[in-house]
Amino acid sequence: MIELDGSQGEGGGQILRTALALSLVTGKAFRMDNIRAKRPKPGLMRQHLACVNAAVAVGGGAGQISAVNSAGEAVRIGETTLLFTPGEVRAGDYEFAVGSAGSCMLVLQTVLWPLLHAKAASTLLLSGGTHNPMAPSCSFLTLLAPYFAGNRQVLFEIELRRHGFYPAGGGEVRVRLSPPAQGFAPIDLMERGELLESYAECLHAGLPKGVAERELAVLRQGLGWDESRLRNRGLRSNEGPGNALVAVLRYEHITEVFAAYGEKSVSAEQVARRVLQEVKDYLSHQAPVGPHLADQLMIPMALAGLQGKVGRYWATELTEHTRTNARTIEAFLPVKFSYEPCDGGTVISLQV
Ligand code: ATP
Repeated sequence: MIELDGSQGEGGGQILRTALALSLVTGKAFRMDNIRAKRPKPGLMRQHLACVNAAVAVGGGAGQISAVNSAGEAVRIGETTLLFTPGEVRAGDYEFAVGSAGSCMLVLQTVLWPLLHAKAASTLLLSGGTHNPMAPSCSFLTLLAPYFAGNRQVLFEIELRRHGFYPAGGGEVRVRLSPPAQGFAPIDLMERGELLESYAECLHAGLPKGVAERELAVLRQGLGWDESRLRNRGLRSNEGPGNALVAVLRYEHITEVFAAYGEKSVSAEQVARRVLQEVKDYLSHQAPVGPHLADQLMIPMALAGLQGKVGRYWATELTEHTRTNARTIEAFLPVKFSYEPCDGGTVISLQV
């Protein structure tokens, strides 16, 4: 059994999700202690339990698979130790609900790679939050899907049926997953290429009038973008209250997506300035891969590496999330990541 310390490095939920995913892919059991030890409320929260339950569901169901605490009991909210024994991953049609505004995109992050390793296609119907802070948004994963496949055959397609924001949740997303017939593609992302398109989209529901205009105005002034690049997308009022401001830069070889979210006591201008800063930071670099994509590309790069396809990418920064994810992956797979500083960023390469 692989022993993992959930307090290492970033000490958050991603260590758990990566471990669940790779345990299912490799068939190796693991024990994790100190789950999310570096977060204000350590242990499994509702959305992490939803990830464990989703992993159990795709991994064969009761009898073959188990997810228990150190006393051998079913894990519950607040649990800081998990012993996970995987079963065989079965393709199929699954429905997972986070049951709160927790991000259902993080449930996708957990079962995506195991289901793409299965022998047949699957569908997922996910409910919960679709646009949450501290998680990949549905917009991010939809637009970035090609890059997880080395910019080749798209492995998963997302259909957003209903937006879900904190605190109400209630979002719904359908995902179609198609395992690659020729195995995972190598990832090689070393340049952006020409800028083809840039725009911002303000998603909002059930908010006072003027919020969207104020957010978009900050981007117009800060980036010099004209009205044609600013999209004011009012959603059905029953999808709210909620607000996400999303900026997209589409280049020849990469697309990057930046987002910030409305919250109580934070002005529309403050929300917009967060996105503005992220866009400016990215524009001040030349590396194609932004900080969030950088940690999320590691699993597909490692899976392609197992098939002898070595990859590399140039990231604008080397985050603690990225280093921590690398260590978790290296615990399951016979691969090693290396880091080389490059013009203010880092080239991340895989050795097998
Ligand atoms: P916690 O740490 O409280 O458990 P968590 O479960 O969200 O929270 P983290 O370990 O912080 O776990 O992982 C968050 C994941 O979401 C990482 O993969 C990170 O790259 C991704 N992420 C965070 N913010 C963004 C963003 N703005 N766009 C895309 N991805 C994001």
